[in-house]
Amino acid sequence: MVYAVWLAGLGVLFWILERIWPRHPEQPLFRTGLISDLAYVIFNAHVLGMILAALTTGLIESWDSLLTARGWKDSFYLGFMREQPFWLQFLVLLLVFDFLQWCIHNLLHRVGWLWEFHKVHHSIVDMDWIGDWRFHWGEIFVYRGLLYVPAAFFGFRGEVMFWVGVANTLIGHFAHANLSWKIGALRYLINSPEMHIWHHNHPDDGPINRNFGITLSVWDWVFGTAHIPAHDPAHLGFDGIERYPKQLPGQWLAPFARLIGR
Ligand SMILES: [Zn+2]
Ligand SMILES: [Zn+2]
Repeated sequence: MVYAVWLAGLGVLFWILERIWPRHPEQPLFRTGLISDLAYVIFNAHVLGMILAALTTGLIESWDSLLTARGWKDSFYLGFMREQPFWLQFLVLLLVFDFLQWCIHNLLHRVGWLWEFHKVHHSIVDMDWIGDWRFHWGEIFVYRGLLYVPAAFFGFRGEVMFWVGVANTLIGHFAHANLSWKIGALRYLINSPEMHIWHHNHPDDGPINRNFGITLSVWDWVFGTAHIPAHDPAHLGFDGIERYPKQLPGQWLAPFARLIGR
């Protein structure tokens, strides 16, 4: 089944769950920024992949020819995992990539110019599963760029990457969902709404730079950045959010405008 079908199915599933068990029942169905966020879903989940594939195919082919010409190809593409069974590749890919994504997410918060791009994701004030897809395309270049070398080193098969992608989408939608579920001891392993909402809190409501986990929460517990109070933050966002653009075009331009000092 193609990824777009999974994406649509998971979207419908979480839309229904949010109606039955809402975390914040007062949140309107047509919340602020909904149309703009649906445009993010289409662009980030579908169009961006096609653009990246078109851009990177030529680049990777040139890089491969260079490695072959120098006789370095076998030492670069070790294909460490290529012959391993599916379940082992799935587990290793999930664990290794999720840890690296946790590290990259830390960088997005702690390096000034990267934060300007990541602010787009934190500009959401009413949380739901659709918010999982509100992020600047610039972030994808950072993630893909930094994950390329480990991916080449391990040499995972395409179908493993696909199923890890589906698992990441499932947990990503769950963690952002306006859903009242609590997951007990599983919260030490996977990301959840009660945890991720405290990644989005406004600085006036509590400590920031907590709960960096994307799919797994275990890294935050190990490295001391986990934070789950019994209540939810009253406000989401960051200092100055009231002056931040509310729709996609302004949000795409915001990091560039900030970086050139306008
Ligand atoms: Zn973040
Ligand atoms: Zn988030």
